[in-house]
Amino acid sequence: MEWLFLLLPIAALSGWLTARRHYKKRFSTQQSRFDPDYFKGLNYLLNEQPDKAIDVFIGLLEVNSDTVETHLALANLFRRRGETERAIRIHQNLIARPTLSPSQRDQALIELGLDYMSAGVLDRAEQLFLELLNKPSPPNETYRHLLGLYQQQKHWQKAIDMAKKLRSEHPEKIGAEIAQLYCELAEQALKLDASGSLSLLKKATQFNPKCVRAALLEASVYIEADQHAKALKSLAKVEQQDPHYLPEALPLLKTCYQALNKMTVFRTWLKGILARHPKMLSAHLMLAEVIEIQSGTEKAQAYLQTQLQQQPSLEGLHHLLSMGKLSDQTLLPLVHDMTDSLLQHGRRYVCQHCGFSGKTMHWHCPGCQHWGTIRPTELHFSSFEPLSDH
Ligand SMILES: [Zn+2]
Repeated sequence: MEWLFLLLPIAALSGWLTARRHYKKRFSTQQSRFDPDYFKGLNYLLNEQPDKAIDVFIGLLEVNSDTVETHLALANLFRRRGETERAIRIHQNLIARPTLSPSQRDQALIELGLDYMSAGVLDRAEQLFLELLNKPSPPNETYRHLLGLYQQQKHWQKAIDMAKKLRSEHPEKIGAEIAQLYCELAEQALKLDASGSLSLLKKATQFNPKCVRAALLEASVYIEADQHAKALKSLAKVEQQDPHYLPEALPLLKTCYQALNKMTVFRTWLKGILARHPKMLSAHLMLAEVIEIQSGTEKAQAYLQTQLQQQPSLEGLHHLLSMGKLSDQTLLPLVHDMTDSLLQHGRRYVCQHCGFSGKTMHWHCPGCQHWGTIRPTELHFSSFEPLSDH
């Protein structure tokens, strides 16, 4: 595989060489054809002596700044291979050249910052990116890289400042990101400064009204302060924001309704949720818990049993078993339904080439059109697709 990486600089250099030959034919008054150093550099590369090759390239650049793109490509290649020191050497040398155009210099500076980042020298990367920001029109990606850097260091306020300056074609995506960053700040403030935390969460919601995390955190702050009615108001937003996150809200809701001694209201609310999202297993399980609290274990088990007959699930069965002893008559049909449903979801016949799976044998794969690539597989736990169906 080692030789593959050699192809890029060689391709780039040969392109440069062709261009140079062309140029010389048309305009040159010089006699020399190619710089012999070029062949030396190529040779070092071919002999896998990249350090010597870099020396030759650096020497070449002094006489010809058309090679900037080649140098950038080579340095990026080194960085991607994890050889950041080599990438840094090339980029630093580029920056030191007075012949670079301003945009080439900016590009080289950004690349050098990325080298420092992947080398883990974050303070130098930060310093470099910040210097770029002092320019009259800094490259937009500088904000993106600084945002990444501050996120990596968990400097949330600085990250927010960068995200706000970032110009993007998808402002709502940035808004959702900023909301998450405010939630990080709010989470830090949670224990120490509840009201500060609440105002940070308000900002999160301003940037993204659909920020579920902000609603959940707000509820936690109110629960911590024994203000359960306010917590319920926050939690009521979650279904509108994104019902997929309701399972995260359920335990908090239970805490609130229990504290307010309003389990009957909770029961009615859960039924409403289940009318709109009939397959939401976690709501069924929560309803069973409420039934158990209000009406006893047997009623709760009966509810879960009916629910499992309609919609077999591993988690539901586990829940039912945890509630206490069941008769074989009750249990065995449920277990049978469960295994039956699991087997139906299993990837029985799988293509070794493209991963296509089906319930019946195909000798000709409908996915990739190869012959004889589909094999029967044994259904162990690893062969099951996620059983998510809502
Ligand atoms: Zn296939």
